[in-house]
Amino acid sequence: MNLSIDFYWAVYGVASLLFFLGLKGLSSPRTAVRGNFFAMLGMALAVIFTLLHPSVENYTWIIAGLLCGAVVGTMVALKIKMTSMPELVAALHSFVGLSAVLVAFGAYFIHSWDGELTRILMAETGIGSFIGAITFTGSVIAFGKLRGLLSGNPVTFCGQHLLNLILALAMLGFSVDFILFDHLWSFVILTAIAFLLGVTLIIPIGGADMPVVVSMLNSYSGWAAVATGFTLNNPLLILTGAFVGSSGAILSYIMCKAMNRSFFSVILGGFGGEGEESVASSAARKGVKSASVEDLAFMLENSSKVIVVPGYGMAVAQAQYAVKDLYDCLTARGIEVKFAVHPVAGRMPGHMNVLLAESEIPYDSVAELEDINSEFPSTDVAFVIGANDVVNPAAKTDKSSPLYGMPILDAYKAKHVFISKRSMRAGYAGVENELFFYDNAALVFGDAKETCQALVAALGGSG
Ligand code: NDP
Repeated sequence: MNLSIDFYWAVYGVASLLFFLGLKGLSSPRTAVRGNFFAMLGMALAVIFTLLHPSVENYTWIIAGLLCGAVVGTMVALKIKMTSMPELVAALHSFVGLSAVLVAFGAYFIHSWDGELTRILMAETGIGSFIGAITFTGSVIAFGKLRGLLSGNPVTFCGQHLLNLILALAMLGFSVDFILFDHLWSFVILTAIAFLLGVTLIIPIGGADMPVVVSMLNSYSGWAAVATGFTLNNPLLILTGAFVGSSGAILSYIMCKAMNRSFFSVILGGFGGEGEESVASSAARKGVKSASVEDLAFMLENSSKVIVVPGYGMAVAQAQYAVKDLYDCLTARGIEVKFAVHPVAGRMPGHMNVLLAESEIPYDSVAELEDINSEFPSTDVAFVIGANDVVNPAAKTDKSSPLYGMPILDAYKAKHVFISKRSMRAGYAGVENELFFYDNAALVFGDAKETCQALVAALGGSG
């Protein structure tokens, strides 16, 4: 189709605006569905009009790729569990990284053959290739750790940071050689080093820091897309990549703040393994109280204020609908019920908000950490459903704990704390939870969904 360049610019402008509205919409659960719709509309416009561009001469490979991608993407989207989202996101980032490398090499060869290779283009392809290669292997390692294919513990060795520094400097050196002297072998070597650097940068990072790593790789994948956009001379890709790159960087910053960690200490790794201290203290301690569903139902029924703290276990048990029934049941009795959401509860940012919204728990009952922490002392019952690390007081008291310094939900300050979980196993960070041993705390053992359903039954239903 013969459309003028101005027309393409106008369509790309509209698509960019839709992406912007999409991101803005995703900043709140209330507007997230609308935001997703805007972003999908923008992406549809971007793809359709890019395909209609006169420079696209042959559709065979494009249609074959679209069909394969659509089939695989649909199957994965239908099968994926919410709890596995972070590993899916890591896998998708790896594709962005790899495609940036392939586009960079493709552009280099095409422009070498037609004699249009400029220094600027070589800088673009070099940068695109090394960001893409780091993103690819880094995301593959993050995927392996989140999926449990690789150990979640930090892999560290003597001289690791020095090795990373040497690799980074060598990669930059080969990049300069490639740009100035057009040595293909430098291009290949710099890309190979970047693949290696992706591995060495991510292996020392422990399980508990994975949320930050995933959002950081999200940012990298955006900057890889920016470099690809420059190489392909596609302004929309540059802009979209910049959106992804900067929002990923902002999210990493917000998450580091939520965990009271400096970005550099996360990137330099070594957090999240099971400390010797916690294993020793775990063996030494005894005296955890357990409570029955009936005990908890009695306490809830006689409360005037309850705060529910959801965590990863609620997602595993898919207990959100049973939690909503419990909410209805308690509010129908005039009991004030609020939900306290920690920024890294679950396995991805916003995980708990999505589940609570799915079961139609009113947004105004859901509060963030900084808004609700002051309310725990005036709360009769804090009911912790499948959360562990995010309520662990060791984050405040135990300097040897890997959680030390991370802000927590102050559930321990409530008059009574009940914790629904299946066993005495640790949470994601692999450390024992001091809260279980507090005088005002009791564990209600069992699957979170079954516990909540049993509670609703014990309270006589929602009526
Ligand atoms: P945790 O992983 O600390 O604890 C989850 C608890 O849920 C476990 O103690 C487990 O105990 C319990 N549980 C599991 N299945 C069930 C079930 N069916 N019924 C009842 N309980 C169950 O989760 P939190 O949400 O407290 O903390 C999140 C952790 O994950 C943090 O360390 C965070 O850094 C990390 N993380 C967060 C990401 C994010 O972006 N939000 C991404 C990746 C990691 P038991 O086995 O005994 O039942």
